[in-house]
Amino acid sequence: METVQQPTFREQLGILEKDGKRHWIYPKKVSGKYYKWRSVVAAILLLFLFVAPFVKINNYPLVLLNIFERRFALLGFVFHPQDLFLFALAMITAVVCIALFTVVLGRIFCGWICPQTIFLEMVFRTIERWIEGDANQQKKLDEQPWNSEKVIKKSLKHLVFFAFSFLVAHTFLAYLIGIDQLWTMLRQTPLQHPVAFVSLLIFTGLFYAVFAHLRELVCIVVCPYGRLQGVLLDKNSLVVAYDYVRGEPRGKIFKSQSQHRENVSKGDCIDCKLCVQVCPTGIDIRNGTQLECINCTACIDACDEVMQKIGRPTGLIGYYTAHQIEDKTFRREDNTIKPVLPITTRTIAYFSVLIILIGIMTTLLVTRKDVEITVLRMPGTLYQKLDNGVIANLYQLEVVNKTPYPKTIQVKGVDSQVIVVGTENNLLKLSEGEVEKFTIMIQMHSNQINSYKMKTSLQFLEGKQVISEKTTNFIAPYRYKSL
Ligand code: SF4
Ligand code: SF4
Repeated sequence: METVQQPTFREQLGILEKDGKRHWIYPKKVSGKYYKWRSVVAAILLLFLFVAPFVKINNYPLVLLNIFERRFALLGFVFHPQDLFLFALAMITAVVCIALFTVVLGRIFCGWICPQTIFLEMVFRTIERWIEGDANQQKKLDEQPWNSEKVIKKSLKHLVFFAFSFLVAHTFLAYLIGIDQLWTMLRQTPLQHPVAFVSLLIFTGLFYAVFAHLRELVCIVVCPYGRLQGVLLDKNSLVVAYDYVRGEPRGKIFKSQSQHRENVSKGDCIDCKLCVQVCPTGIDIRNGTQLECINCTACIDACDEVMQKIGRPTGLIGYYTAHQIEDKTFRREDNTIKPVLPITTRTIAYFSVLIILIGIMTTLLVTRKDVEITVLRMPGTLYQKLDNGVIANLYQLEVVNKTPYPKTIQVKGVDSQVIVVGTENNLLKLSEGEVEKFTIMIQMHSNQINSYKMKTSLQFLEGKQVISEKTTNFIAPYRYKSL
């Protein structure tokens, strides 16, 4: 079989000219079933991005990541720094999830869900095509000298890019501080919140720079996930791949041969290079799986269109594993590959790990206590002697209300009397989703004390229900030392 390797692709990056300068990529627009489905997914995700800050559950945004006030909310659950272990576990689950998905389904995340791909391919390139025209017109515009047409089109494009970036920066800020606080800020002058305003401008500038200038360099050079492909993919990973068995030897065809390709001693690839022209990272998928390939499926759609035109079966480029391309048992009579999900023992093992992790996450989330209480001795204090032989110790309570409702909690000593300092009716009153600190005094009569350092228990009740029980040390004068 003729080799499919091109002499230059290992020596030169698609994003660089021979002299090392940036090779600007003008990908052609595609249409086809994958593009259609990707557009649907992108529309849903973009809708979610812009609408979610306005949606509230239990008076909390659907997603809130307020790192400044250390308050987080997700689907009505409120999280605090005390839930850090949950966050860490969620991060581990997400990383394992992405790694396992990559091993089995290749870079499906990059092509379908990654914000970089969605913003670039579905938003910024669409705006660019509206203003500057298709790939050829864009190239022509860039090459032509500066004239009024070029100035108007370029200015308009970058103005719209910047405006969209500004909108996205505000949306991200809404995820950080909540939509209500954002509205308040929007009604004020930037001088009233200079830090937030400068941060917004910096983020807008970065976002604009990424999508107006850096583009595919982010995927190829900056993104660490892309770099992991080499160790995550193997022969059983489902990736966007060229079926070289069916496609080679490639070669041009003449119109008269187009309906009878089977009679020509060539493969199905007619070397039209349309798959290269639509590629947003400028690579030729026919050279095999490459780090630059973000599995965007544009080359599948482009090649399917070509195959339909020349009367050959579609799927010369498709979602295949290297094993499926090599192994004849995966082929149909017409030499095309049967689409099969690669379910191997390893796949099952990986998914089992994932299900266990998700199970642990869900259990921890569901069994999470609504109120978390920490009892700490007041720093620098030992005990106080009160009248009638009563000894008192001071403590600090840190109470986290993880629910979106206010709560009132009664605190009782199992073997002592408890006073909540500074409250009217000795109750702990908590606002929704807040962390509150209280000072309490535990009092014991000397008759009850049998040691200079003894354990004492506190009960926390909501209504009549005990929601938490804590034990702490009670310090008394040394003469109470037990024998
Ligand atoms: S689009 Fe299909 S036929 Fe054309 S060069 Fe690419 S693989 Fe070959
Ligand atoms: S090779 Fe195909 S799937 Fe990969 S980035 Fe290029 S067009 Fe997208």
